[in-house]
Amino acid sequence: MQKTMIIALLTVGVGMQVPSVLAANKAVLLGIDGVQWEKVQALNTPNFDRLTINKAYTGGMKGYDNEQLTSSGPGWATILTGVWVNKHNVDTNSAGLANADFPSIFKRINDANPILTQASLVHWSPINTQFFTQDITNVERVESGISDADVTSATMSEINKGTDFVFAHLDDPDHHGHSTCFGSAYNKSIITADQQLGEILDAIEAAEKQSGDNWLLMVTTDHGRDSLGCGHGAQKLNQKTIFIGSNEPVNAELTEKSVGANNDFSGLYGYAAQTSIVPTLLTHLGIKVEQEWKLDGPSLIGELGVRKLVASTDGYLQWINESDDDIRIYRNDILVDVLPAQNNSWQDNANTRLGTVDYVLASNANPVAFRNNVMDVNAGLSWSLSRGYFFRSDTQYVRYNKVLDKAEDGYPRAVNEGNWPGLSAYSENLVASFHKDSDTAYFFTHDGQYLSYDLNTDSVRDGYPKAVDATTWSGLEAYADSIVATLRWKGNKVYFFLDDGNYLRYDLVNDSVDSGYPKPINDSTWPGLGTYAQQITAAIHWDDTRAYFFLDGQRYIRYSITSDRVDSGYPKPTNDSSWPGLLGM
Ligand SMILES: [Zn+2]
Repeated sequence: MQKTMIIALLTVGVGMQVPSVLAANKAVLLGIDGVQWEKVQALNTPNFDRLTINKAYTGGMKGYDNEQLTSSGPGWATILTGVWVNKHNVDTNSAGLANADFPSIFKRINDANPILTQASLVHWSPINTQFFTQDITNVERVESGISDADVTSATMSEINKGTDFVFAHLDDPDHHGHSTCFGSAYNKSIITADQQLGEILDAIEAAEKQSGDNWLLMVTTDHGRDSLGCGHGAQKLNQKTIFIGSNEPVNAELTEKSVGANNDFSGLYGYAAQTSIVPTLLTHLGIKVEQEWKLDGPSLIGELGVRKLVASTDGYLQWINESDDDIRIYRNDILVDVLPAQNNSWQDNANTRLGTVDYVLASNANPVAFRNNVMDVNAGLSWSLSRGYFFRSDTQYVRYNKVLDKAEDGYPRAVNEGNWPGLSAYSENLVASFHKDSDTAYFFTHDGQYLSYDLNTDSVRDGYPKAVDATTWSGLEAYADSIVATLRWKGNKVYFFLDDGNYLRYDLVNDSVDSGYPKPINDSTWPGLGTYAQQITAAIHWDDTRAYFFLDGQRYIRYSITSDRVDSGYPKPTNDSSWPGLLGM
């Protein structure tokens, strides 16, 4: 900014022609696909050395709702929107259009000032042709699938033209990584990318001298690589590690490693996130980042506000803040609290935290957001070989087609007197359900009651709910309000799982708890389930060979009834790929 003013004054001072257009702020975002930061540091890359550059991270936060694959689609979508996958919805490379509710920087710029000119010049086409097609209709120059050399020359010509925002994407390092892993070809592609970065930096410096404009160049990558350099996609330190560089001064969010609430991955989350790129570019371009946009990262230029925000699913928020400004806390666009600057945590005690919850913390006009989805599966009921029902924490239910392995169209729906006669008054309290026989299903509520459901008349039987007591469920009475899940097993047995990590076996013929229970859920009683004993929210008998356990934090486990143990590779996230439509809105 200072540089611009001096040039402008000199121009006027020496009596030369006053520029007809005032000096402007312009920006280039150079993305280089699949570059391992440690390789850049080890190799001779003199042009990277011209930047203020530091480690950063991608992939969201492992185990949180914003966790995403460390692959190109999700990565570039985050780089270009400033939000994670739970907002932009680009969950794989084959995803379609990104979520229009969280538009890319192209649309943000065009909406803020349609006069500004833009270019999107990409080697990897899907960025333009698959994810952001709807946003680039107002971008003046769009090139897709062109070589790295052509991207570089097109970028330089756009800089020479004075285009206000240029996104340039190089792909050769990722390509070489996939074909020959780490090695000489990969290293050479990074050296080449460094030279292309150098050409772009030279073009920017020349343009600044000539026009007096102030160009921000940011450089980044979408993901790191596995230890051999061949692939990526997982939640592993190398693959989550990226970098962000800038030719302009940046704030401590980029230059310093902080200690936040989550120190996983050797403290990687203490560095800046991929989500900070969009707010930084917008700030440089003079476009105010609105708190309503719910961008997940703070700007790397300008005053620091709240950063390193983490919200757990129980509504506990933590962050760091060095600004003197009050902290305004928004939940789903409503201001819910204002805290003095020195605070660094807050408990959301509202009982409206079910479903998708968007927090935004704003201080110093540098807002930062965090989205949670606290929807859980509270109960699962196997209706038939082809149909299951799931009851969710938002009190809606989903009819699931077990053959097609997806939710039926038109779900979720509210539980009401039309679809579940007699059950709707208890839809907020359901904790477990199971299919006893061809006549009866049972539902249990968190206050120690149960309902008997007549499968023939499709309604709750008269006289229910009743208390779980010594006469109705002999041996279960002491645990009536601790039940979190039930699992109909083989023969006459059904298992009850309790909130303290223990379980009971119930015999439906003897109509009582078997002797010797409760027992702990551990790796001898339930092999593979011990670690998750206190995280179970629901269980469902799927067929004679398997059952599913649903865990908090939207994860699930497949349990082999045949081999009586958790199948390998679980837990996995409960999402639209694993359970299409189950947790959808
Ligand atoms: Zn790749």
